[in-house]
Amino acid sequence: MNSSIQQEGIGMTSLRTRERLVQRLIEQGIQQIDVLEAIRTTPRHLFIEEALAHRAYEDVSLPIGFDQTISQPYIVARMTEIILSALGKGNKIDKAKVLELGTGCGYQTTILAQLVKRVYSIERISSLLQKTKERLSDFGINNIQLKCADGRYGWPQYAPFDAIITTAAAAEIPKALIEQVAEGGVIVIPVGGARQQELQVCRKKKDKVEVESVEPVVFVPLLEGVER
Ligand code: SAH
Repeated sequence: MNSSIQQEGIGMTSLRTRERLVQRLIEQGIQQIDVLEAIRTTPRHLFIEEALAHRAYEDVSLPIGFDQTISQPYIVARMTEIILSALGKGNKIDKAKVLELGTGCGYQTTILAQLVKRVYSIERISSLLQKTKERLSDFGINNIQLKCADGRYGWPQYAPFDAIITTAAAAEIPKALIEQVAEGGVIVIPVGGARQQELQVCRKKKDKVEVESVEPVVFVPLLEGVER
């Protein structure tokens, strides 16, 4: 990506440190070059508090305030890879519209925005979203649209979406998402209880959804309503 996002960092945030993270993701089975490249060039240390920056390229989730977390790089890579595989090759990916629920610090949003045409992302905590807006505008990324709302209702104005990704855990797949995903599109979502969930991939075919469980995951919960 040729925007100002490729800020190199030093020491524990250097390109060499990021390279080690990418190697680890490869060992864990992440294969798509474009996904690995996006992880390598995206400065994760700039998405978290400076005091935690030295841990930015460890494969762990980290606190971002407001009782929320930045997702583990492996999970971000895995979910992104699932979406790209579902979209197919080349042309379709370049034209794809993706909806994300749970913007948080905007890391997953930024990874996706480098790979698809446009990302629509919804966050329910208004002050967290404000910080993220400022960060993304500093990076000069301009194919992301953000709004503060309860993401469980999707974003009907821009539907249908080629893919929908939820980065917070739901007890069940919200109906609006099934309505707003395009025919042949996918919803990638952690489904389950508070402590652990299954990462599910739901494909919409002829108005029905086929659900496939991928692996156990732990996400913060998808909550109702908005917070100022
Ligand atoms: N995508 C982030 C992870 C964010 S954690 C990353 O790249 O690291 C999950 C986020 O989902 C939190 O910020 C939380 O506030 C948000 N969230 C929870 N319930 C939501 C809802 N109903 N609508 C929108 N966002 C929600």
